[in-house]
Amino acid sequence: MAKKPKLETELGLKRRARKINRVLAQTYPYAVPELDFENPFELLVATVLSAQTTDVRVNAITPALFARFPDALAMSQAERSEIEALIRSTGFFRAKTDSLLGLSAALVERHSGQVPPKLEELIKLPGVGRKTANVVLGNAFGVPGITVDTHFGRLANRFGWSDETDPVKLEQAVGALFEKRDWTMLSHRVVFHGRRICHARKPACGVCPVASLCPSYGIGEEIPAKAKQLLKYELAPGREDLLAKMQAGATRRQLREQGYGLDA
Ligand code: SF4
Repeated sequence: MAKKPKLETELGLKRRARKINRVLAQTYPYAVPELDFENPFELLVATVLSAQTTDVRVNAITPALFARFPDALAMSQAERSEIEALIRSTGFFRAKTDSLLGLSAALVERHSGQVPPKLEELIKLPGVGRKTANVVLGNAFGVPGITVDTHFGRLANRFGWSDETDPVKLEQAVGALFEKRDWTMLSHRVVFHGRRICHARKPACGVCPVASLCPSYGIGEEIPAKAKQLLKYELAPGREDLLAKMQAGATRRQLREQGYGLDA
C-alpha cells in the first residue's frame, strides 16, 4: 500500500489530491456511470446485479430484464425462476434474485413503488448496501456521493489519499479532501482510471497521466511502449476512433448502435 509522500502536510495532500482529480477530469472528460439505466429503479437493480461481475455483463442482460419487469410492482410479482433465467449470466443469480424480489417488494410496500432518494432508506432495502445506495443517490438523484468499490479503494490507497481499507472510513477520509459537489464525478473518474490504466495487477505507470503526482509510480510497467499495451477499453491500442468519438461526446447508447463494443 502506498504511503503519502514524506513530510506532506494535510494541506499538501488536499492540493495534490485535487490536482489528481483535475488531471483525471482532463483525461476522462466523458466519464459516466458505466451501467446503463433510464430511471432510479433501473439503476438500483443494475447496481445490485453488478456485484462480483462487470458492468459490461450487466448491460448485456438488463434490456431484456427491464422489458419484462419495468418497475418495482412488476418485479415484485415475478416468478423467481423467470428472474433467475434472465440474470443467470451475472453470477450469484440465486442470491441476486432474492435481493431483486426483496427490494422490489419493499419498494412497493414502503415507498409506493418508488426508489427513495435518501441513504438511510435505501440501505434498509434487501441487498442494498452503502455502495449501491451512493451510486443511486449520486447518479439518479444528483446527491453527491463517493462510491468505494474495489477500483476506488485500490486507487485511493495507491494515490496515498488514505491508507484506510474499511470502505466507510475510506469514504470519509477521501470525502474530506474534496468539495462535496465533486464527489460523484471524482468517483467515476477514479473508477475509469482503475479500469483503464491503474489496473489491480499490472498498472500502466509508464503512460499514466498522474504519474508525477502518484507516490506509487513504479509498482507497474514503467516503459511507455510496454505500458501502452496494458491500456484497456477506449484507450487500448487500435481503438483510437472509439476514443475520438467518446471525446466528441457520443453517448454509450449511440456508440453501441454504431457497432462499437464498449468492453475491454
Ligand atoms: S503512476 Fe502507476 S500506480 Fe500511480 S496511478 Fe498511475 S498507474 Fe497507478
